[in-house]
Amino acid sequence: MISLRFKRLKVRENLITITRRIIQILAFLMINYVIIEAILPINLLSLEGILKALPILNSPRNPLSNGAGMIEYIFFSMAEGVFPFFLIALLILILLFSNRFFCGWICPIGAIQDVCAAIPTKKKKINLGTHKSLLNIKYVFIIIITIIIFPLGITKNTNVLFYLDLKTQLGVFAQRPIGFFSLSEFIFVFLPDIIQNIFLPVKFETLEPGGYIILGLYTLILVLSVWYPRIYCRYICPFAAVSSAITDYSFLKLARNPVKCVGRSECGICEDICPKQIRILDEPFEFFTGKGECNFCLECKEKCPHDAILIKFINI
Ligand code: SF4
Ligand code: SF4
Repeated sequence: MISLRFKRLKVRENLITITRRIIQILAFLMINYVIIEAILPINLLSLEGILKALPILNSPRNPLSNGAGMIEYIFFSMAEGVFPFFLIALLILILLFSNRFFCGWICPIGAIQDVCAAIPTKKKKINLGTHKSLLNIKYVFIIIITIIIFPLGITKNTNVLFYLDLKTQLGVFAQRPIGFFSLSEFIFVFLPDIIQNIFLPVKFETLEPGGYIILGLYTLILVLSVWYPRIYCRYICPFAAVSSAITDYSFLKLARNPVKCVGRSECGICEDICPKQIRILDEPFEFFTGKGECNFCLECKEKCPHDAILIKFINI
């Protein structure tokens, strides 16, 4: 009887995490629906048209963006000379109304990093100054991609010969502008290709030097995420770069109750467990997003012993 009550209490205490994990697993299966086909004897290929029209849900089988999402579609379209107004507007609306709920609850790459972080080790914090500098890496990447891809798209409509020449020179980068910066592309496309090659009866296709760099870098990121949760989201993810610039203006935010919160010297649990290393207690009480870095995982809300963290929908 006592143990049953204890279990119930534990479930209630961890309700947010339990719900989040269930949603992450379901989202992982939906986004990579090839896995469902591997488990169940069904063919979901007929759904591919719908999935392409709804680029929020994507799969490694999709030839347009191999294991990717909206950002890949946006840059892919721009490289093809099409400016995707609808997709950009949709992305902005999603971010304004749901903040980075996608990052915390749906993104399969976030889920994979959460699995790495679930390995029981003492989590480490990066020195604050270094952390702040590293946060800029993702913005630098997205600016470089935009500077190259945006003019490429314009030349398609103004100077086709120049466009074709530039596209040839850019090679894979023009076909998959986000590819090199995407852990999703690495896990769902690059790694399976390598594994497939290993098991092929024909001669093993050796990697180009760039391939070894990608393999080394992303493996390192995955290993580091055991000690530094969501390290890819924090510093490299192109979606994080775009979304963090928008979610500071989101209508959905977190707030901290100044009456209930006892502060860093007496508690500070929220900051200790925040996977994005956000200095929650330095943020304003009325609402906070950690300059758009908060991925709305709600771990701080769940673990706050004084129930001081609130979800707030700001009136438009
Ligand atoms: S865990 Fe809650 S009470 Fe503790 S410092 Fe954070 S917000 Fe304040
Ligand atoms: S501030 Fe809270 S909700 Fe945001 S990332 Fe950190 S723990 Fe998650």
